[in-house]
Amino acid sequence: MTDQPSLFLHNSFSGHKEKFVPQNPNRVTLYVCGPTVYSYAHIGNARAAVAFDQLYRVLRELYGKNHVLYARNFTDIDDKIIAAAKESGEDISAITDKFTKIYQQDMGALGVLAPDLEPAATEHIQHMQDLISRLMTKGHAYAGEGHILFDISTYADYGRLSKISQDEMIAGARVEIAPYKKNAADFVLWKPSKEDEPGWDAPEDWGIKGRGRPGWHLECSAMIEAAFDGPIDIHGGGQDLRFPHHENEIAQSCCAGDLGDVPLARYWLHNGFLTMGDDKMSKSLGNIVLPHDLLNDWDGEVIRWALLSAQYRQPLVWTQSLLQQSKKQLDRFYRVLQDLADVTAANMPIPSSVLAPLCDDLNSPEAMAAMHALRDGVAKATDRAAAKGELLAAGAILGVLQQDPEQWFRGKAAGGLSDSEIEALLAERIAAKSAKNYARADEIRDILAAQGIMIEDSKTGTKWRRG
Ligand code: AMP
Ligand code: ZN
Repeated sequence: MTDQPSLFLHNSFSGHKEKFVPQNPNRVTLYVCGPTVYSYAHIGNARAAVAFDQLYRVLRELYGKNHVLYARNFTDIDDKIIAAAKESGEDISAITDKFTKIYQQDMGALGVLAPDLEPAATEHIQHMQDLISRLMTKGHAYAGEGHILFDISTYADYGRLSKISQDEMIAGARVEIAPYKKNAADFVLWKPSKEDEPGWDAPEDWGIKGRGRPGWHLECSAMIEAAFDGPIDIHGGGQDLRFPHHENEIAQSCCAGDLGDVPLARYWLHNGFLTMGDDKMSKSLGNIVLPHDLLNDWDGEVIRWALLSAQYRQPLVWTQSLLQQSKKQLDRFYRVLQDLADVTAANMPIPSSVLAPLCDDLNSPEAMAAMHALRDGVAKATDRAAAKGELLAAGAILGVLQQDPEQWFRGKAAGGLSDSEIEALLAERIAAKSAKNYARADEIRDILAAQGIMIEDSKTGTKWRRG
């Protein structure tokens, strides 16, 4: 592995691009804040998932597949989930199970590899309570009207990640003023649950009565402790999470645990926003596009290629034409692969022209430009097996070119006949022809044509594609 390039990552904590040096190259640790599972993920959420999947793929390449431990959580207890359950009349667990599975499927379709660990918050309530108890014992947390709050005045380093002073925070509009708080910027670790809300009994020594549930920030600190022991290498999330969510994770974890002088993670990475025009895409603005819907019309690789078209820290403006261009570009790759169908790809390393930009703070647009150059070089290549192998190896690290070119050009079903229905009709057509039932064979050709499906008979069988 000595000739691998070094990885450089922009660390939001220092504000600089830094050389990445893991604590232990045999066990590189990565945690990313995952979705709150009360609804479909939007394409902005998918950008975060794809960006950190890209990082995971690069880490696996540099350190080995078995030497990277990646955890991404599911927030399955939250006010928004409770509200969704009240509105629909469904059980909370029915909602969270459904949207957890949909998230996994949809992100899988975008080539997002399953993380090694996918902890759900409700599986770690005991750990969260234990973390709160430690904070209370050490004087960092206090009880007030059924809540347990973190006392930010006890943590002098509060604000180091977001570079916001405690005074600015208190003056800021983003903290909720409440009578049970000592300081306006103190945040909730545990809050009371109403009768009809899910809740867990608090340990007696907290001095509060009744059932309650964890605050969102606490969930990640507890799940990180449960998944990894001690400080982690990389913590990721969208830039909106930098304050207060990540600042609060640092405060909780550093005050409760024994992390030395590491602010929970040694490298903090934040992806930029995906926007619709000038606006951030968000559920509250109502301007959302769902990968779940896009996947009806577009292959997941097209969506992924579009999401990788901007470096992860840069803003990305989402448009229909971005999808169209991405489809066209991938078509050009698949056409070259189709022409190379009879060539067995040689097993090749990832070309450095593609790996090097990815190692430079995940510069995906530059890696994609290098892929275009590789593709254009195939026509002149003397060793076609090596050229094909290089293109496929480059595609694999970016999570594209994973399909059979024939399948690619067949396109998406988008509500029409499925692949298996088409195959069944074609089989019936062959049977009809050999039984000399040409009327039925022609009829099947017409049925397919009416659905925009073109068929082409050749010596090796019948090829088909959606028009
Ligand atoms: P949420 O379910 O809203 O907590 O978001 C899940 C992840 O998506 C977090 O890392 C967010 O920071 C990220 N995210 C949310 N909206 C956007 C957006 N418009 N663009 C990029 N990332 C986003
Ligand atoms: Zn988090």
